[in-house]
Amino acid sequence: MIALEYPDLLEALLPAESAGNTFAVADPATGEILGRVTNNDVAAARAAIQSASAAQPAWAAHPALARGRILRRLAELLLQHQNDLALILTREQGKPLSEARGEIAFAASFFEWFAEEGRRAYGEVIPAPQGDKRLLTIRQAAGVAAAITPWNFPVSMLARKAAAALAAGCAMVIKPAEQTPLSALALARLARNAGLPDGLLPVITADRDNTPAIGEEFCRNPAVRVLSFTGSTRVGRQLIAQSADSVKRLALELGGNAPFIVFGDADLDAAVAGALVSKFRNAGQTCVCANRILVHESIFDTFAEKFVAAAARLKVGNGLDAGVEQGPLIDARALEKVQALVDDAIDKGARLLLGGKPHALGRTFYEPTVLTDVTPAMRVFQEEIFGPVAPLIRFSSETEAAELANATEAGLAAYFYSRDAQRIFRFAEVLQYGMVGINSAMISLPEAPFGGIRQSGLGREGARLGLEEYLDVKYLCIGQDQ
Ligand code: ADP
Repeated sequence: MIALEYPDLLEALLPAESAGNTFAVADPATGEILGRVTNNDVAAARAAIQSASAAQPAWAAHPALARGRILRRLAELLLQHQNDLALILTREQGKPLSEARGEIAFAASFFEWFAEEGRRAYGEVIPAPQGDKRLLTIRQAAGVAAAITPWNFPVSMLARKAAAALAAGCAMVIKPAEQTPLSALALARLARNAGLPDGLLPVITADRDNTPAIGEEFCRNPAVRVLSFTGSTRVGRQLIAQSADSVKRLALELGGNAPFIVFGDADLDAAVAGALVSKFRNAGQTCVCANRILVHESIFDTFAEKFVAAAARLKVGNGLDAGVEQGPLIDARALEKVQALVDDAIDKGARLLLGGKPHALGRTFYEPTVLTDVTPAMRVFQEEIFGPVAPLIRFSSETEAAELANATEAGLAAYFYSRDAQRIFRFAEVLQYGMVGINSAMISLPEAPFGGIRQSGLGREGARLGLEEYLDVKYLCIGQDQ
């Protein structure tokens, strides 16, 4: 169990020995079973959608200011319970406690942002081509939304979706990742404490076996008007296909494969520090983390030396322990995948500069790893690694850097380091990515639009645009036809 200041946050967590329709939640750092939660089925998902449909019109009819007050209160509660929430997050997900605390603050920032942004769901008055007509648009809540959220940021990804949906006047049915249901349950509990009416934010926990059918229900149920998903491109494609019959509006944040490009004119120490945080934060289990580090040949050797030295100093361990910078991977499947990618790269000619195998701590801990001589033929170049493995790639010209950077199907985040003002604009325009960090490795903010192009997804979260996903535009034409 988890010792909390405010135990009610985990009222839905059942003892580890409970029987019945439940599944276990484990701590990836120790293997300890933290307890069990309800294993819901399709019928439960359907019932939650029905209750959400019943509750949503009254919520949409609430003035945006009143909705915003509840969301702001929720932001305050998240910060008030930051210690408990961070502890829950670290126990079920594995990330260092300092990162977990940061995630709770980040989650709160979305409720704070959308509490205000909901008040700006403006319509338009459009100049008419004829004097006897008046044309205008209004924006209205789309209805019930559903969300399928990932395990890598179980609190903030849920917050980024739910804050926008609730601010717009929608209800949102949540299916959290099976590895991290407790964070979602705790957030929903605080939403209730903040005064959110019943039925608007149900959390449908389910294990890996029950999940696909619930996902399919979210796609096919005509009462769900918007489906928001963050996860793998593989599952995203499946959700698109299943949503065809109900013509669902989809907001998809799928896999990334971020290039991190260091030009010869970069501030080298800033680039090393940026690459380190981008690559190893959350043990590399981040869709916007540096997946391929491209370095100009003029500084390659110096960069590699400094980067390897810094990566070698990272403290790996249980996220609860002071000073730990890299926790375990989420589960055994993740460890297997990371090792398979490293083995594939070495088979095809890459060289290890650091790590390359499971960590001596055992379980799912993996050594911070750096590979060099990486080529586009290797899986580490083409696929999202989702682990603490940094492939280094040498380039000799800006054109080559652009070609290598764009040579995958993904288009989520990209980063580059340069001090040349001309290049900064020129290169940012060439990158086929939805987000570009320039001399900055930490780009996610509630004010900024998060999202990808190409096969990294559809739509944007956060920012002004994030609200649009949950609003319908209605055009009103007033006048006479003659
Ligand atoms: P994985 O954990 O297998 O890599 P994802 O990262 O895509 O898969 O998981 C993100 C979310 O998608 C999680 O909440 C997971 O439960 C959910 N999910 C997995 N498979 C499906 C599916 N077939 N339909 C709907 N949701 C799914």
